Amino acid sequence: MIFKTASHAFRTAIKGLSLTVKHLFGARRSRQELNIKNDNYFDHQEGIVTVQYPAEKMPIPEVARYQLQVDIDDCIVCDLCAKACPVDCIEIEAIKSPEAIGKTSDGSVKRLYPAKFNIDMAKCMYCGLCTVVCPTECIVMTNEYDRSSQKLTDLIYGFSDMTDEQVAQRKAEWTQFQAEKEAAKQK
Ligand code: SF4
Ligand code: SF4
Repeated sequence: MIFKTASHAFRTAIKGLSLTVKHLFGARRSRQELNIKNDNYFDHQEGIVTVQYPAEKMPIPEVARYQLQVDIDDCIVCDLCAKACPVDCIEIEAIKSPEAIGKTSDGSVKRLYPAKFNIDMAKCMYCGLCTVVCPTECIVMTNEYDRSSQKLTDLIYGFSDMTDEQVAQRKAEWTQFQAEKEAAKQK
């Protein structure tokens, strides 16, 4: 019995030691950078996993969901993305225009100015719903993931390209348009 136990302990120790030695030699080099789409991705798991970031970066899948980006020129300020967001991290303020103000790259007519278009990436849960509902496909998830910051407020991304003066001017134009419309009705 004692020989059997000793033999088992010896074999177990050898197995554990061989695993340690294997990783010891493997740790002399970094793990090969491979795209996850590679057929042999799981055959190359030896080596140091930690990468020397930012000098080195791990390859990421093309369909990964990372930082959101909005092409504001193609946005019709419809608010659908904000309504679809389950955590309310998109804040949009629109200003109506008395007339069409242009077209997006897919031909959609723009009638609203984006006075405010903020996305709080600290609250975002990367579900991608906002990108699915966007009629002009101007809000997308990019493969950019390294915008870390020590201040939470830095993670509120602003996409509106309007200045305070422009916002005030457009609001005044809309107020005047409404007033003229009312006055015309009274006549
Ligand atoms: S990815 Fe999801 S949580 Fe993030 S802003 Fe879009 S809808 Fe909201
Ligand atoms: S759904 Fe698209 S077009 Fe509509 S407000 Fe959001 S980003 Fe703009």
